[in-house]
Amino acid sequence: AQRLRAGLSKTRAQIGGQLSALFSRTRVDDELLEELETLLITSDVGLDATTHLLDVLRERVRRERIEDPARLRDVLKEALTKLIAPLERPLDLDAHKPFIIMIAGVNGAGKTTSIGKLAKHFQAQGKSVLLAAGDTFRAAAREQLETWGARNNVAVIAQDSGDPAAVVFDAVNAARARNIDVVLADTAGRLPTQLHLMDEIAKVKRVIAKADPTGPHEVLLVLDGNIGQNALAQVKAFDAAIGVTGLVMTKLDGTARGGVIAAIAKQHAPSRPIALRYIGVGEGVDDLQPFRAAEFVDALFD
Ligand code: GDP
Repeated sequence: AQRLRAGLSKTRAQIGGQLSALFSRTRVDDELLEELETLLITSDVGLDATTHLLDVLRERVRRERIEDPARLRDVLKEALTKLIAPLERPLDLDAHKPFIIMIAGVNGAGKTTSIGKLAKHFQAQGKSVLLAAGDTFRAAAREQLETWGARNNVAVIAQDSGDPAAVVFDAVNAARARNIDVVLADTAGRLPTQLHLMDEIAKVKRVIAKADPTGPHEVLLVLDGNIGQNALAQVKAFDAAIGVTGLVMTKLDGTARGGVIAAIAKQHAPSRPIALRYIGVGEGVDDLQPFRAAEFVDALFD
């Protein structure tokens, strides 16, 4: 929780500081609520989630005759926690063996870094891990993974063929033969401007299903926390192509834009909620943390 607090310091300084100023006023009035609305919209919480939160707040203020700003602060924390709670659904690695995780994201989002951190997390839980070097477009990506795998005792399946689908197919079969628990399948990153070029990763997904009809068991999209509201468009585009089931949001330590998590929660509830599995709050292995809604809100406010 301490690490999380430290990691979220920029978002806290930005949103938290201004919230504190609002909530240290003498009484709750329309002006305070309007300023709160503006603050939330401009801090990447976005219009839909803000409208929802303010509806809840105004209703509670009316019904409970709330006059004390400190009380309103608690109500906001409660409403925000409730809004983002559906995102909190940890992965159940025991559901399948091997548990196949396909990983996608635009270049620079933090895909490779996150794969390394995830592999170590899973190892720490007693799981054997195999990496599939499916990013065959970036010449350095394969070497990077192989070096990393050798150093951390994680098997890496790579190929010279240059066909990511073939690499991933191999990896799933190798994992089965070696009795591996978790497969992390990397895919080629895309430029944010090339979101339409997704046939390749859609093919990777189909080929995983050929190697294991129950898989992939998780389609994980890595998002850069710095991109704010653009995250919504990325989720939409990747979801349309490959059916995203979970998110990793990286680099929340380097940004004041963590409010976008509320926007994502609003966009996806309740039709087919996408889980926010992990958040990245620093460069260290322990800085990739399972997302916990109440802890996240506490770290923002306290
Ligand atoms: P990829 O192109 O998606 O594979 O991106 P990389 O994994 O190479 O990451 C791009 C950069 O972001 C690297 O310098 C990482 O160290 C950095 N990075 C990734 N995750 C985090 C994070 O949670 N916090 C911070 N501060 N940096 C991160």
